Amino acid sequence: MQLVLATANAGKLQEIMAILSDLRISFLSLASLHGYIPPVESGATYAENAGAKAKAVAEISGCWALADDSGLEVEALGGQPGAHSGRYLGLTVTDQERNQRILELLGGMPLPRRGARFQCVVAVAGPGGELSLSHGSCHGTIAEVPCGNGGFGYDPIFIVPDLGVTMASLPPDVKNRISHRARAIEKTKPLLQRLSLAAA
Ligand code: IMP
Repeated sequence: MQLVLATANAGKLQEIMAILSDLRISFLSLASLHGYIPPVESGATYAENAGAKAKAVAEISGCWALADDSGLEVEALGGQPGAHSGRYLGLTVTDQERNQRILELLGGMPLPRRGARFQCVVAVAGPGGELSLSHGSCHGTIAEVPCGNGGFGYDPIFIVPDLGVTMASLPPDVKNRISHRARAIEKTKPLLQRLSLAAA
């Protein structure tokens, strides 16, 4: 089957394709959709944004589409940046600057008060208006200094407690087994498996 990945985020794209590599799927990117303009992410929740992105792409492409909406929720910041993680502090700010700002806001806070979680909702939408939503989350602790070169976004400041290192320090195959995205995508596999068998 052909599945359009409704994201322009290179980090997400790589992870989604790796997590789904055991299924018989050929992936299409947004670049193959001429004239496609992504919907404004105006929803208050991950589910609304993921659903809107997947539905828009399924409609314009006539194919099944998969979208991910995700974010980091920091307990001491009342759950911020949350569903606005990709736009936190503005669209021109780098990931490094966003991470630095969070570390400044938590400055001096002891580790037990630095709890956080990554959240992800994955939407799979069909050309006939079908929509399936799956959720995954991953608990962690905000580090005192950034560490690691892997992953993307907030990975350098997110410690995975069971492993004792930041998400950015993990090999990709380990992140892709334990991450919020991996957990959400695993739940979509029965549907994607049925669709790929039906398309064979
Ligand atoms: P979205 O495109 O609105 O879903 O933005 C998600 C944002 O959340 C990304 O741009 C990252 O800043 C952050 N994010 C989501 N997933 C991850 C992850 O796996 N690692 C690090 N940051 C992430």
